[in-house]
Amino acid sequence: MHIDDKVISSIKEKISLSDYIAQYVDLKYVNGQAVGLCPFHDEKTPSFKVDVNDRFFHCFGCHKSGDILDFIQAYHKVSLEKAIKIAAKFGNIEVKNVPISDTIKICRLYNHKNNYADFSHEIIPETELEKYNPTTISSWVSEGIEPITMQKYDIRLDAKHERAIYPVRDINGNLINIKGRTLCDCWKELKIPKYINYFKVGRLDYFQGLCDAMPYIKDNKEIIIFEGIKSCMKANQFGFNNVVSAETSILNQYQVRLLVSLGCNVTIAFDADKTLGDFTNKELKMLTRFCNVYYINDRENLLGGKESKNSPVDLGADVWNELFYKRERVII
Ligand SMILES: [Zn+2]
Repeated sequence: MHIDDKVISSIKEKISLSDYIAQYVDLKYVNGQAVGLCPFHDEKTPSFKVDVNDRFFHCFGCHKSGDILDFIQAYHKVSLEKAIKIAAKFGNIEVKNVPISDTIKICRLYNHKNNYADFSHEIIPETELEKYNPTTISSWVSEGIEPITMQKYDIRLDAKHERAIYPVRDINGNLINIKGRTLCDCWKELKIPKYINYFKVGRLDYFQGLCDAMPYIKDNKEIIIFEGIKSCMKANQFGFNNVVSAETSILNQYQVRLLVSLGCNVTIAFDADKTLGDFTNKELKMLTRFCNVYYINDRENLLGGKESKNSPVDLGADVWNELFYKRERVII
C-alpha cells in the first residue's frame, strides 16, 4: 500500500490521542493531563500519561512513548501501514493511495519514528519526460562522450531553457524527477544555476543511475560512486557499468543507509579537488563500519592536481584504470 504523506500529518493533527487511547485505557484527567494504567506493562498505580497537547503518550514505568501511530502499532501489534489505516478510520480521514517510490520505503524502514512525514518523492508520469526529445550534446561529444552513451543515459534537450535534461530514477526505475544541466558556458557569470530539478525535490536518498547499474553492482560486489552523471557516462565507455552518481560530494545519511542495504564494497571516485578530508563526515564513518569503503587517491597527480577539478575519468581510460586499481581503503 502506498500512502500520501499528507494523510500522516492529518492523522497527527486531527485525531485526539487521548480519545483514541480512552477506548482501551481508563483515563482520568489530572491537571488537564490524561493519566491511566499503562497498557504495556503491569502496574497498580497509574504512570501512563498523555501530554497536555494530546500529541504524545509516555509511561513513566516502562518508558514506552510515542505518537498515535506508535500507540496503535504497539497496542494492536500491527505494521505502520496498518496503523495508518486504523487511525484514518477512527478519525474519518480519507486515505488516498498515491504511488510512491521504493527508496522512500527503504528509508522509512530505517527512519527514526516520528520522522516519516516529510518525504515527498512521487512517481512522475513518463509523459513528462517524453515532452523532450532525445539529443546529442555537441559540447559533451568534444569532451569524449559518445552519442550512443548519451542515448543510453536518455539525455534529452530542453531547448526553451537551454538545458540538457536527464531522468532521475529510483532503485526500481520509476521516474522521480527530471534534472537539467545548463548548456550555457557562462552560467557562473550569468548567475544561472548549473543544475535544476524540474519537480519538487524529496530527500537526496538515491543514487543517479542505480537502477541500471544494479545487476553490475551485484556481479562486481562493488559500487563506484562519482559526483556527477557525466563521469558515469565516461566510466561506462571504459567498460565500468557498476557506476552511479551521488549528485553531491558529501554522502548523506539516506544515501549511506541505501549503500549499507546493498551490502557491497563501495568506491568513492570524486573529483580531484576533493580529498578524503573533504568528504569525511559521520555518515562516511558509519559506512566504514558496514562495508569496505575505498576511494580514489591521486597521489601522483595524474589528474593534474586539485585545481584541475578533473573527475577521475576525465583524462581517459589509462589514467582511470591506474587510479582505480590503486584505490585505497578508507580508514577513519
Ligand atoms: Zn508502562
